[in-house]
Amino acid sequence: MRKWENNIRKVMPYTPGEQPQKAGVIKLNTNENPYPPSPRFARLLEEMQSGDLRLYPDPDAGSLVNAIADYHGLLPEQVFVGVGSDDVLAMAFLTFFHSSKPILFPDVTYSFYDVWADLFGIPYERPALKADFTIAPEDYYRENGGVVFPNPNAPTGIALELPAIQDILEHNRDCVAIVDEAYVDFGADSALALIDRYDNLLVVRTFSKSRSLAGLRVGYAMGNPLLIKYLNDVKFSFNSYTMNQPSLYLGSRAMEDEAYFQETLRKIVNTREWAKEELKKLGFIFTDSKTNFLFARHPDYPAREIFEALREADIFVRYFDKDRIRDYLRITVGSQEEMDALIRFLKNYTHGR
Ligand code: PMP
Repeated sequence: MRKWENNIRKVMPYTPGEQPQKAGVIKLNTNENPYPPSPRFARLLEEMQSGDLRLYPDPDAGSLVNAIADYHGLLPEQVFVGVGSDDVLAMAFLTFFHSSKPILFPDVTYSFYDVWADLFGIPYERPALKADFTIAPEDYYRENGGVVFPNPNAPTGIALELPAIQDILEHNRDCVAIVDEAYVDFGADSALALIDRYDNLLVVRTFSKSRSLAGLRVGYAMGNPLLIKYLNDVKFSFNSYTMNQPSLYLGSRAMEDEAYFQETLRKIVNTREWAKEELKKLGFIFTDSKTNFLFARHPDYPAREIFEALREADIFVRYFDKDRIRDYLRITVGSQEEMDALIRFLKNYTHGR
């Protein structure tokens, strides 16, 4: 090791899912939406004024903040935006988790949480999900420096119902609680209505999944204006211009075609429920996912082997070589055609051996 390496911050980074660069693959590994954003959106792309790029973007991201506030019936002071919800969550960890007491999040959850905690030197404990992979609210009654969990949880796909979320919030009035609602549009209860009752609740959303805009990198948080102020103070201590001009312009128009949005959600949920039936016929065991992905294992075939066989066939899914979940595959719900191809492959794989 070189001497100067002693002075360096060393971290174990998060590993994002693969973005294969070759054409023709069936990509069911990073929970993107198989459907494009509304056709109206394509027109906006053409109309975008490239001249805007000469200037710095609005540091307050006003157009985007206002559009999100309008959509949810909130005040702009209740909305914070970032470069995808990863950026929003990273800023939220940095802002709100500044206690010497450990923050709490489930042992099986979004694998970026422990990375941010390690990066920022935040102590943490990970209460174990129950054997059926559900969250036990009473695990979050203990003293802590903050609470964060996705609802629905990832990669399990399991949703917590509103009374259970409220139970966790009731027992955590003295720290900030973050509910990461990356997948909530696919069929779970949102905690958004609770932000008026709990001034320490931050609800985080993204345009990446249900809104088909993972490439735009827009995420946001909603909460009490005081929480949002603290978040902005940290953001402005880090980078004034997180949101670029195209993200502001396109993001602020991304919620206009509600009918198309609802139709896309309906298609994905229908395909998800169809895929559950088909997987069941093939002997797979899986959770009752309320997201746009399935979390499944087969009692007779190791997940890693299925993962590799799928990959050979240019069907990409996600495999996590981690305690408790290394028997499982996380399979993004693609279009009906993509899921047909997946099921056809798995039929051959499970019957042909
Ligand atoms: N939260 C959860 C639970 C996720 O699975 C993801 C996607 N990796 C994110 C947040 C971040 O998504 P994005 O940065 O695209 O908004």
